[in-house]
Amino acid sequence: MADSTTQGQFDTLIAGGHVIDPANGVDGTFDVAVKDGKIAAVQPQIDRKSARSVFNADGQIVTPGLIDLHTHVYWGVTYWGIEPDPVAARSGVTTWLDVGSAGAYSFPGFREFIAGPSRSRVFALLNLSSIGLIAPTWEFNNPDYCDVDLAEKIVEANRDIILGIKARIDRNTTRGVGIYPLERARELADRVGLPLMTHIGYGPPTMEEIIPHLRPGDILTHCFTGGDHRILGKDNVVIEDIKKLHDAGLILDIGHGTGSFNYEVAEGLMGQGIMPDVISTDIHQMAIQGPMFDMPTTLSKFLNLGMSLSDVIERATSKAAQAINLDDLGTLGVGKPADIALFHLEEDGEYSFHDSQMNERNGTKRLISTKTMVDGAFLPQMPERELHIWAGLPEHQAAVFGSPDNFRPNRPS
Ligand SMILES: [Zn+2]
Repeated sequence: MADSTTQGQFDTLIAGGHVIDPANGVDGTFDVAVKDGKIAAVQPQIDRKSARSVFNADGQIVTPGLIDLHTHVYWGVTYWGIEPDPVAARSGVTTWLDVGSAGAYSFPGFREFIAGPSRSRVFALLNLSSIGLIAPTWEFNNPDYCDVDLAEKIVEANRDIILGIKARIDRNTTRGVGIYPLERARELADRVGLPLMTHIGYGPPTMEEIIPHLRPGDILTHCFTGGDHRILGKDNVVIEDIKKLHDAGLILDIGHGTGSFNYEVAEGLMGQGIMPDVISTDIHQMAIQGPMFDMPTTLSKFLNLGMSLSDVIERATSKAAQAINLDDLGTLGVGKPADIALFHLEEDGEYSFHDSQMNERNGTKRLISTKTMVDGAFLPQMPERELHIWAGLPEHQAAVFGSPDNFRPNRPS
């Protein structure tokens, strides 16, 4: 064996970047050494000769690989799903939490065809609805699909990748069955002892009906929605019960998506110190076309709302990991998996960003993904699949981002 102390001691050295690792309180110029797929060292200066390959990260931001806490990556089987790896390679996301694309009946396929083969990490929240999100709406309309016993069995057989329960609770998902699905989702989450992610938007049911089912440690996604489930009250003060739950540990997650991020709500809440705990995309066939686009764009919106880069990165790394108890991810700690994201930060540009209602804000900062490493290997850029023929944006968004037809490249002629 060759001398293992210096020459070739490390596989890869990411040298000279501005490392931001909130989990370990690191924010400065450091070298990051990788060996055997793990973080081997993070130090101000590591000998260039100690690594077989050196990546010069001068002028770049180096962070733990991003964890996107609200995604839809069950391509080909659901209305919403995108393919994870090509987007991972161009956005810095190394871990996807697919939230409820699969219910009990489609979970075996999710495991076999998505979570297993993907190079980026894929975990899931199981949809209480046993049909999951194969269609855009109505997954709870038939109460027979709220099968708590069946869902519990699926969780028990897949605890390595199922990290919680998902229920979409709004007028389009429940259609006439009221709060019943959320009651059953609560029962399921309590039985299996995992967090419940509740999606809010437009009632019925009302927030007054929803709130009693939320617990500390649960995740409230679409927390900055502009819908009538908004947590900013009519008096422009956060709803008291939500504030109490948040103080006790309810996780507020952005889940931007096509319809769930509103600037007035964000500014109103952040102005009174209510920060999101996690910044996630709710990426899917529609949202990927804009105004959400991707994780770096979503993070950039919060930079331009005045959050520090470190606070923004924390909400897409260590805080996202904590929410689903993934202790090994979202950190550049020595010995942890070498999932790393590199970015270029533009700080004096002129950019415009839009919320779901197409309210516009201008900003000077933009985070641009440059490299994504998973398990110590950089992901190559990969071609992305064409969007599905039904994947048109809502009209008010398509009016800005182009004709809906432009987003249907594989439409039948
Ligand atoms: Zn979603």
